[in-house]
Amino acid sequence: MIQILENISLKPFNSFGIHALAKSFCSVSSIIEMQELLEWNKIQNNPLLILGGGSNLLFTKDYNGLVLQNALKGIELIREDHENYYVKAMAGENWHQFVCYCVQMQYQGIENMSLIPGNVGASPMQNIGAYGVEIKDVFESLEAIQISDGAVVTFNNTACEFGYRESIFKRLLRNQFIILSVVFKLRKTPVYNTSYGNIEQELINMKEQQPSIRSIAEAVIRIRQRKLPDPSKIGNAGSFFKNPIIPTGLYEELKKENKNIPGYAVNNGDYTKVPAAWLIEQTGWKGFRIGDAGCYPLQPLVLVNYGNATGAEIFNLSTQIIEKVQAHFGIQLEREVNIY
Ligand code: FAD
Ligand code: NAP
Repeated sequence: MIQILENISLKPFNSFGIHALAKSFCSVSSIIEMQELLEWNKIQNNPLLILGGGSNLLFTKDYNGLVLQNALKGIELIREDHENYYVKAMAGENWHQFVCYCVQMQYQGIENMSLIPGNVGASPMQNIGAYGVEIKDVFESLEAIQISDGAVVTFNNTACEFGYRESIFKRLLRNQFIILSVVFKLRKTPVYNTSYGNIEQELINMKEQQPSIRSIAEAVIRIRQRKLPDPSKIGNAGSFFKNPIIPTGLYEELKKENKNIPGYAVNNGDYTKVPAAWLIEQTGWKGFRIGDAGCYPLQPLVLVNYGNATGAEIFNLSTQIIEKVQAHFGIQLEREVNIY
């Protein structure tokens, strides 16, 4: 039986800790309940927002519609072959707890994505990634419910059109599907990725002779805990902007004036990914604070709420950053966080 609440504060449901009211709010824990709720909402003719862990969104005003919290639970090994385990996780499972489960079971492939907040259901939305691994590398398929008619549809890897912090659900099919579950294809024989950032150094610090699923997860957790603000203490939604990918010709031009500009080749070197954090720091924002909205001193790509900032204040700060980086470098930063 679904229970629809009215005028609920969304503050406990977003990692920025922003106060905004939802006209209606309902947490659903079965597909039947979800279908019932979608029918109800069709009659109400309300806008609909699907909520996972609320760690990649910013409320800039009250939400004048229905917020549907996807709370479907369950993890299941659905099949295995010589090389892989196929593990299905329901959308409402906490991502990091799912990673910990896989580490414990020796299912290899997602340990580099330890400690990313949020839920499994949102993980394909922006093809989450960290330390050289993305969802698309381990993704087998997902099931999603079509909002218009309640039909359940399966998407394979190609159909999701994954890109850098992108998928078809963020673009062409935006607001059309609710992801119900995801199947991950995880390895029996490990292929570790420790080349990225300071994972190798961290493993040495930990006195680990050989990398393992567990030790890599542990190294990533240690690095992240040092560098990133804990949303339970300082409100944030991780990286606020994507790292811009620019033509390598333009990057070479910029390098003439900015000798230290970092860049990582993508697409066989035709394009270069420039860390947005560097651009933001160079334009003077690192550690900047206005009221309770700020740019995190240890990682300027992360905008933070030190207490009582409004979503509009954080959004305004992000606009100022975009304008200054554009004026200085001619690079247009794009927000990664979903704005409501
Ligand atoms: P939400 O914020 O609830 O939702 C995000 C978007 O997805 C919304 O538009 C929502 O409507 C939609 N959505 C959510 N669930 C569903 C569903 N079941 N079906 C359809 N649409 C849905 N991201 C990375 O990629 N890599 C990182 O390393 C990383 N580190 C982070 C560190 C910190 C400290 C924080 C706060 C965030 C970080 N993030 C990172 C961002 C965020 O954790 C991820 O994007 C995460 O996948 C968001 O999950 P969520 O459940 O909180 O999604
Ligand atoms: P970092 O290691 O300081 O590196 C800065 C940026 O340079 C990263 O964003 C990364 O891009 C890029 N980079 C670094 N080494 C690279 C390599 N060997 N090859 C290609 N690109 C490289 O980054 P960080 O801020 O501490 O974050 C570490 C990892 O966690 C990154 O993968 C980052 O994406 C992820 N993270 C994501 C969020 C989020 O909200 N999206 C928040 C925190 C951390 P990529 O981002 O493309 O990896």
